[in-house]
Amino acid sequence: MDYDSFAKECIVKLTALQKQLSDEFDLNGYANWFYNQATGLLTFSTGEIELNFRFFEVGSFSHKSGTWMWSWHNENTLGNAKETTTQVKDFGTVHNFAKLTEGCFSSDEFEAWEFTAIAAKLTNAIGGYRPVNDEGLKIFLVITEFVDNETAKSIKDKYIECGDHEYRRVAFVCQHLNFTTRVGFEESFETYEGMELSDEDDFQAWCNECEVVRVAEDGWNDNAMEFAKIRVVCEGCYFKMKTLNLESE
Ligand SMILES: [Zn+2]
Ligand SMILES: [Zn+2]
Repeated sequence: MDYDSFAKECIVKLTALQKQLSDEFDLNGYANWFYNQATGLLTFSTGEIELNFRFFEVGSFSHKSGTWMWSWHNENTLGNAKETTTQVKDFGTVHNFAKLTEGCFSSDEFEAWEFTAIAAKLTNAIGGYRPVNDEGLKIFLVITEFVDNETAKSIKDKYIECGDHEYRRVAFVCQHLNFTTRVGFEESFETYEGMELSDEDDFQAWCNECEVVRVAEDGWNDNAMEFAKIRVVCEGCYFKMKTLNLESE
């Protein structure tokens, strides 16, 4: 298999997928689009009406520098948004396709679509999308599946916008935990930043005083909850508090 004919074959496939996708969902009929690396959701909307898909980021093309960068090479791209692209890199390694294994190089927009088509083919995707970000970079996304509105809402509810950490997962802490004073850090299970959580699990932490009350009350009853006054913070803030409390004097 040579690279050029493989890339061509993938382009033909993606073109067909794009037609199918636009026939089925009328993507151009929506007023707005928005993609979020944290949730992994690409959202089209008009007013309250929403259409959601799961996506991953293939890479970006800069007209200014005339370069392509694979997302796995881009430290600004969040892990979950680019993880899948390593499959393309691995495929490139096996077949000795240099363009799939080098992180960043001179290229053009046509090639960028080829890379997107290859990524779509290797992941059995349903299409591609190419937004332009605030810095004028063209971002190439692969759309992997349709997400119904209820599921999309439950995914989005698990995230929160933070002034310091942008858009991150929600976490819960007692009213006493803070960024400056050590008050202890109790958790219901051991956590680390970026860890995968099952649907039922949340990051939850409380201070030593809350722990005393919780034990005295024999669990999280109304009294213990009233004392803790649990509040929502972002995952980044949660681990900032954890680090403060766990680092040695
Ligand atoms: Zn507390
Ligand atoms: Zn934060």
